[in-house]
Amino acid sequence: MADIAATAPPQPPVQPLPVDASTLLQLQGRACIACGTTAGPLTAAGHVYTGTPQGGRLGWAVVACPEHLGGAV
Ligand SMILES: [Zn+2]
Repeated sequence: MADIAATAPPQPPVQPLPVDASTLLQLQGRACIACGTTAGPLTAAGHVYTGTPQGGRLGWAVVACPEHLGGAV
């Protein structure tokens, strides 16, 4: 019998909470997810997930600067 975990789709990595203030800016889409710059233009760059030890998950729509768009997340 197949292991249920082996048949589930791969899950993205989860950052544990709490996060520090600069990481929160990145999660809120106010700074590049890779380098943290707030100098624009910042472009949507997918999602990052935070989680609790109890298994709760929250997805954040993050942004990236032109230098990090398309490979950092
Ligand atoms: Zn960047």
